Amino acid sequence: GVPVFLHIVFYRAAASPPSSNFLLLGPSGAGKTAFTTLLEAKSSPASKKSQLTHTSQASTLVSVSLPPTVPTASNRYRSVNDPSLKDASRNPIRYCLKDTPGHGKLRTSQGISELQSMSSSKDVKTKIRGLLFMVDTAALVDEACLRDAASYLHDVLLVLQKRSMGKGKSSTKREAEIPVLIAANKQDLFTSLPPGSVREKLEAEIDRIRKSKTKGLMDASMDTGLETEEDVLGDDDAQGVFTFKLLEQVGIKVDVVGGAVKGDPQEEFGSGVRRWEEWIGMCL
Ligand code: GDP
Repeated sequence: GVPVFLHIVFYRAAASPPSSNFLLLGPSGAGKTAFTTLLEAKSSPASKKSQLTHTSQASTLVSVSLPPTVPTASNRYRSVNDPSLKDASRNPIRYCLKDTPGHGKLRTSQGISELQSMSSSKDVKTKIRGLLFMVDTAALVDEACLRDAASYLHDVLLVLQKRSMGKGKSSTKREAEIPVLIAANKQDLFTSLPPGSVREKLEAEIDRIRKSKTKGLMDASMDTGLETEEDVLGDDDAQGVFTFKLLEQVGIKVDVVGGAVKGDPQEEFGSGVRRWEEWIGMCL
């Protein structure tokens, strides 16, 4: 078999992921507060009453646990008979989720600045592991809502792109990647858009934002001091159409996954967020 000390090394590596902080962003009304509250209730059913303490006006940090049946990147190859899985239900993997207000005025001061500080942090305790951007997929049918969500997402992705392209070129080590999940919420509503079309609509709208930004930069006088490439999302040749795939070139992986915080009451409690939890698990 494998020498005992190797077991210890692997166990330790799995037990302490590099960082387990996730940031939850998105326009107001997307369902962020409801999601945070649901995760808390799922983690400790006895404390459901704590729901009332959350508001959409301030950031909240909650520590929640991953359901033991959700695989993590470090245990995905484990067999169901593995005794450590039983151990997982007694000693679940925990992670932290920071919910931020999505109101227009608070976005820059709270959401974006939270992202900037968590993504530049060197401390495992505050460093970001993944980013969830939640949208209301029924609201995106409305042009104004789509534009609002896309411009927030554009700004968020631009922060990640700047970070990944590394302004401080002196650092030899590339920053750890921050994967992005677009949580396409409210799939229970029959007026909601399916995840595939959420992706297309957001991409098309970001493309529009990007093109008008590039045009603005070209029209501007020479002394604006703006650095074109750094301020445009995706490649610097904004002639092509923007897709999330384009961002993979700069190391940003974006997934769009559907779900519902307020799921079907017939189904298992909280099952509508299962696929987001699986995404979180794959980051851990
Ligand atoms: P926040 O501003 O992003 O924190 O959004 P909230 O959590 O306050 O949710 C806004 C509204 O959407 C509330 O009335 C929620 O009950 C509702 N909501 C959240 N998730 C869902 C969902 O999956 N389906 C439906 N139908 N409503 C939802």
